[in-house]
Amino acid sequence: MQTRAGEQLEVLIQAQDIRLRVEQLGARITYDYQDKDLILIGILKGSFVFVADLARAIDLPLAIDFMAVSSYGMSTQSSGVVRIIKDLDHSVEQKHVLVVEDIVDTGLTLNYIYGHVKSRGAASVKICALLDKASRRQVAVPVHYKGFEIPDEFVVGYGLDVEERYRNLADICRVVHTS
Ligand code: 5GP
Repeated sequence: MQTRAGEQLEVLIQAQDIRLRVEQLGARITYDYQDKDLILIGILKGSFVFVADLARAIDLPLAIDFMAVSSYGMSTQSSGVVRIIKDLDHSVEQKHVLVVEDIVDTGLTLNYIYGHVKSRGAASVKICALLDKASRRQVAVPVHYKGFEIPDEFVVGYGLDVEERYRNLADICRVVHTS
């Protein structure tokens, strides 16, 4: 993909490997949620590609909802302040919720969302994250389904952005600044 001047992309996880892992996660989730009323809650915007692929890899009549929270804004540093920009459209009462997130970094965002969804009367709440930067964790959050553990590097692609760019990359890449 064409990049901005002074930026280069280095592939960290290839699209083909993402596809395989998402298929595995989908099969596992299908098995675990047999006969359960499952709702996926995608955290916008970063999870939109992952949710689309994961949902189709799960062979169950699930529902899908989205939440949007502010975490990083236009910066790449976590502020620790989480604000709900878009809340759930539907009740999760008595439903089995799987929160679908692109990446867990400090854990602050998911920790907040996890508590928020639990307080809404769900039958169960679990977390599925495509990427995990475990070395950066500040608060412990249970990641029940995990795609890949990655090193402490800022990544883009497959829904993840830097200043709203590169969400449409098929691979997950690190951004290298050349100037
Ligand atoms: P946490 O609250 O766990 O520190 O941050 C989670 C959120 O930070 C993610 O949903 C994502 O929006 C953003 N984030 C954390 N690490 C990265 C990264 O390497 N790349 C991008 N694009 N976003 C990240």
